[in-house]
Amino acid sequence: MSNVKTRFAPSPTGRMHVGNLRTALYAYLIAKHEGGTFMLRIEDTDQERYVEGAVEIINRTLEKTGLIHDEGPDKDGGCGPYVQSERQKAGIYMEYAKKLIEKGEAYYCFCDKERLESLKQEVAGKEIVVYDKHCLHLPKEEIEAKLAAGVPFVIRQNVPKEGTTKFVDEIYGTIEVPNAELDDMILIKSDGYPTYNFANVVDDHLMGITHVVRGNEYLSSAPKYNRLYEAFGWEVPVYVHCPLITNEEHKKLSKRSGHSSYEDLLEQGFVSEAIVNYVALLGWCPEDNREIFSLQELVEAFDYHHMSKSPAVFDVQKLRWMNGEYLKAMDDEKFYEAALPYLKKAISREFDFRKIAQMVKTRIEVYPDIMEMVDFFEKLPEYDPAMFAHKKSKTTQESCLEVLTELLPKLEAQEDFSNNALFDMLKAYVEEKGCKVNFVMWPLRVAVSGKQMTPAGATEIMEILGKEESLVRIRKAIELLGETCR
Ligand code: GLU
Repeated sequence: MSNVKTRFAPSPTGRMHVGNLRTALYAYLIAKHEGGTFMLRIEDTDQERYVEGAVEIINRTLEKTGLIHDEGPDKDGGCGPYVQSERQKAGIYMEYAKKLIEKGEAYYCFCDKERLESLKQEVAGKEIVVYDKHCLHLPKEEIEAKLAAGVPFVIRQNVPKEGTTKFVDEIYGTIEVPNAELDDMILIKSDGYPTYNFANVVDDHLMGITHVVRGNEYLSSAPKYNRLYEAFGWEVPVYVHCPLITNEEHKKLSKRSGHSSYEDLLEQGFVSEAIVNYVALLGWCPEDNREIFSLQELVEAFDYHHMSKSPAVFDVQKLRWMNGEYLKAMDDEKFYEAALPYLKKAISREFDFRKIAQMVKTRIEVYPDIMEMVDFFEKLPEYDPAMFAHKKSKTTQESCLEVLTELLPKLEAQEDFSNNALFDMLKAYVEEKGCKVNFVMWPLRVAVSGKQMTPAGATEIMEILGKEESLVRIRKAIELLGETCR
């Protein structure tokens, strides 16, 4: 094993957003590409955002997408616990915060709400609090007295006001910020829990993370993390911040888009493998512009040096196309199983669903497309007899009436209603009549489906409908045409 170790560190706040799935995927790919370790850590220190059941969603999503961790809450690799609330209870964050206080890199702050309110200022139309380091200057005795008296406190990072802090991101390059712009962020909150900003640094170090992969919303805080690494004297990991994902209107992809989470997409009929494949391309592109990749192929091809920093547009049409490719390539039996619920929603009658599934497999992009495509099996729709006239098949309503009327007794006499037998019989009729095949197939197709576009030809449809139902529909067509041609 190489020493590359990445982590996926989700907060249990609900469904897995596409952006989080991409972070998990990239972290997985970076580790696996190098034969390294992929770790899962649950970041549940923000009690207000915690959602019941969200940890199960995370586990389920990772399992279904195949992003299997080597180490995590359920797989001890010697760096546990892997859940931040458990680490908090074990006193890990407080221990490290105190180390920083000893070094003068952090300090207790006892300021109450009112005082902090009074520090609010408007910067570029936004209200922000820039802490004035008031408590940094408290005498030692006062601090101890306050602690002994149980006065609530937070612990803040002590960032110098002068100088600059630099950090290097693999994707965004070197970024340097004046320290005056970095506030004395809170490391430990008044409830004793660490902030993300502190916990991620302590944990990533203690857990041996070599490459930190995350969304670029953390980019602006990265200089502060670097200061913490330096204050502890720890090696800074490689940072890989991923670009923003937007909707088609170039706005941040949000819940309102309706397809922002992995589970939303599954519910909309997308295949897990296609989602993973598509998400891999949101911010990364292989040199040869290839698009279809299995997870294993991604592991081989993925090179984070080719990631892009410009925002990636989540293009549902593209995902639909890709999903269609996955459906075409899918094992027939697997497709049948997945398609069956949709077929049953559209058709309540007893037909050969295996055959219908086979008809639609190469013609849909997502499962729900099936329903509109096969609804005519359930019930012949009301249709306009003008549909019988079709330029390409050289048919008119009159020619269709003639063909169907001539075919009716032949079909009534036909015992074998299998696709092949029907086709042979019709072929003989076509030869006898000396016309083109479609001149005969077109009226039959419209008659048995009430549609011009069907997922299969007339004889395949008739085989599924069976003799009785096919004849009912053909008689109905003759009646309709009889009325209009009169
Ligand atoms: N808990 C953070 C989140 O879910 C993780 C950020 C990170 O990967 O460091 O956004």
